[in-house]
Amino acid sequence: MSDFIKCNADLHMHGLYSRAVSKDMVPNIIAEQAPLKGLNLVASADILHLGWQKLFKEQLKKTADEAIFEYSNGTKFILGTELECSNRVHHLVYFPSMSKVDELRERLKGKCKDFEADGRQKLWVNSEELAGLCRDVGALIGFAHAFTPYFGLFGKFDSYKKCYGKYAKDIKFMELGLSADTNMADRISELHDLTFLSNSDGHSPWPNKLGREFNELRIKEITFDEIKKALFREGRRKCTLNVGFNPLEGKYHKTRCTGCLKFFDPKDGVKFKWRCPECKKPIKKGVDYRIEELSDVPVNVHPDHRPDYKHIMPLSEIIALAIDKKNVYSDKVQDIWKKFIAKFGNEIRVLFRAPYEELQQVDENIANYIIYFREEQIQYIPGGAGQYGKLVKPGEKIELDVFNPKQKSLVDF
Ligand SMILES: [Zn+2]
Ligand SMILES: [Zn+2]
Repeated sequence: MSDFIKCNADLHMHGLYSRAVSKDMVPNIIAEQAPLKGLNLVASADILHLGWQKLFKEQLKKTADEAIFEYSNGTKFILGTELECSNRVHHLVYFPSMSKVDELRERLKGKCKDFEADGRQKLWVNSEELAGLCRDVGALIGFAHAFTPYFGLFGKFDSYKKCYGKYAKDIKFMELGLSADTNMADRISELHDLTFLSNSDGHSPWPNKLGREFNELRIKEITFDEIKKALFREGRRKCTLNVGFNPLEGKYHKTRCTGCLKFFDPKDGVKFKWRCPECKKPIKKGVDYRIEELSDVPVNVHPDHRPDYKHIMPLSEIIALAIDKKNVYSDKVQDIWKKFIAKFGNEIRVLFRAPYEELQQVDENIANYIIYFREEQIQYIPGGAGQYGKLVKPGEKIELDVFNPKQKSLVDF
């Protein structure tokens, strides 16, 4: 059918009122940066926060659909937020209208210490109660960064069905998080029914953060009902592609010590009761191992509806790697980035679609690195314990600082 559109959507980010978020995270800057990445639709961020709501209403205009707001350049926003429940699990919530946002705020009165303390409110209701409240107001709820040790559902629970109790059947989507991808998450059979989302969880609006993960949705138009159908996989609407980090770049991918940052064999983590024998700081279990613990499906077995997962890395990181710069915001990196965007319009086109010959006309060295990226030749020092993974040039030797129990016992004796 020809009347479907493809919509690139990043459905999770935070505004400047959330903790550790850039002061540039305001609706008009997000809206201006989104098309430079190649995004059509973004999440409204922290819509239960009144200060944020005010900015949002000032800078964006309503559309015919009550859930969708629009900036003058055409970037669209869907009303949504992230909430932390009393189980210390993070949930993504999307609303059909501003009046339903107000209704949920009203229903949560007395169940949150201070709505304005943080854009992402901490609530005194558990996951099941929150799912019930969302259902009552007609909002959609799923879980964010599913596997991360802090605030990921599987950091606390072995099953999302146990977590949401009687409302588990209402859960239709979850977010993979930067440290996992589809190949990893489909190792768990109960997740086969869910739609996977790959979102940035961006805390800064620049295109190395905004849209660093996104979803391609097949819908007829950008409305709440169409997006809901895509998340629920109804009427041929669906997420047709997840685009996200190679999990090696995620902050919690590998098991690692939070103090000395040594990599650990997870079995040694268990043996040492998750406390580093060298620096005595906690060892954080990696998402790769957490999924291994929960897995009941062989590798590369996916449900029929599951779309492909394509790895991406920010263009500015590729440029910084190619010209040996540590800082992606340095003038040198940004100048080259701007030249590519000026020629091709957005990052997604540069990274995935522009022919080599045309890339070469802008900068031959960088063009070669974009090809290395497409051929998955760029290597990673994996992330873990809250540290992002680092890109390494193709062919360069990588030596990881791995905890070696044998060495340790030699020292002891
Ligand atoms: Zn979160
Ligand atoms: Zn340590």
